[in-house]
Amino acid sequence: MSSRARLKIRLTPAAEKAARGGHPWIYGDRIRSINRDGEAGELAVIYDRRDRFFGFGLYDPHSPIRLRMLHVGEPVTPDHNWWVERFRSATSRRTGLFDAQTTGYRWINGESDGLPGLVLDRYSDACVLKIYSAIWLGRIEEIQSWVRAACDPEPQALVLRLSRNLAAAAEDGYGLRDGDVLHGDVGSGVVTFLENGKRFEADLLNGQKTGFFLDQRENRQRIGEIAAGKDVLNVFSHSGGFSVYAAAGGARSATDVDISAHALAGAERNMAANAKLSGVAECRHETVKADAFGWMEEVAERFDVVIVDPPSLARRQSEVAAALAAYRKLARAGLNLVRPGGTLLAASCSAHVSAPEFFTLVREVARRSGRRWDEIETRLHAPDHEARIPEAHYLKAIYLRIPS
Ligand code: SAH
Repeated sequence: MSSRARLKIRLTPAAEKAARGGHPWIYGDRIRSINRDGEAGELAVIYDRRDRFFGFGLYDPHSPIRLRMLHVGEPVTPDHNWWVERFRSATSRRTGLFDAQTTGYRWINGESDGLPGLVLDRYSDACVLKIYSAIWLGRIEEIQSWVRAACDPEPQALVLRLSRNLAAAAEDGYGLRDGDVLHGDVGSGVVTFLENGKRFEADLLNGQKTGFFLDQRENRQRIGEIAAGKDVLNVFSHSGGFSVYAAAGGARSATDVDISAHALAGAERNMAANAKLSGVAECRHETVKADAFGWMEEVAERFDVVIVDPPSLARRQSEVAAALAAYRKLARAGLNLVRPGGTLLAASCSAHVSAPEFFTLVREVARRSGRRWDEIETRLHAPDHEARIPEAHYLKAIYLRIPS
């Protein structure tokens, strides 16, 4: 592609305005002119109405988001130093957020760090590069050098994860596969890392997301703070992160419910790995393999702390109505399982359901329950997962207390 003329694009006034405001997505119908066909990942230079340099971005002819902007403003060239600087500005934003007791966190958060469709998570000495857009597939080697230059400590291993829709293009065009180890050695792919002094496993090669739900760290910590002496129910537990914090916070019991036996086996191992922490060995830990929707309706026991953190229930706009009905059902069932004096944490990670919509729904369910309740707080994204464009917002959590 390099022998051809530079890809030149002009945008509609509305797209220019949005790009100037910091939004990196340019849809196909916002492109006013283009000098020739472009290939996936090609650098495109944008010119304004008066033919002056406007910015640059990466082009993708196969995506409805035709162009992802990287820079708007003064003319600059994206050479090695420019890229290293872009990567460093993301990683350095995390400086000081965590001490040595937390070695698992997000280093680059895609659009919100000026790198659309690119995520980098640290798990102790290893890192996972997760790619959500074809614009990066031809740059994997360069990305490795930028990561090396930008991350401190420098990762000893780097794993590539690909969003499902990229599998064919990655394999056919670049010989890349989900789970490729780009450098270093991660053995079976299961590595351990620390989160606030607790030890967890992450499955970098096969796990969901990049191997662990790093985004719920602050909610886990909050639950740890209120768990002393409590019976804790962790619905949609995955590998039991909330329960480990609850146990370390002095919970009397922690019950993990998940539909996946694999996830629950991870929960057992995570609890065992923290047995030396004060409180953990004394906490009665149980795992229940069940469909949470049915189980919550049927279980006779009540709990002091109930966490309901389901997977995304609306992956597309057309699923929103069904998702809202499911959230309502879960909030009702969750609230019903809380003993007087207890707490409900209801979370949602569906980007298509907004935070106000979700909070309103949970409050409405509480109002209709006939029980007295107080709202303790609501929370959004963790500081290492900061969302800077509306579409990047997905995580929200609301805490309700039932008076005794
Ligand atoms: N709270 C977890 C993350 C939850 S991810 C953490 O902090 O790490 C969602 C989990 O829900 C997955 O582990 C998945 O196996 C489980 N799941 C999905 N559908 C389910 C269902 N119907 N019943 C129970 N668990 C389910």
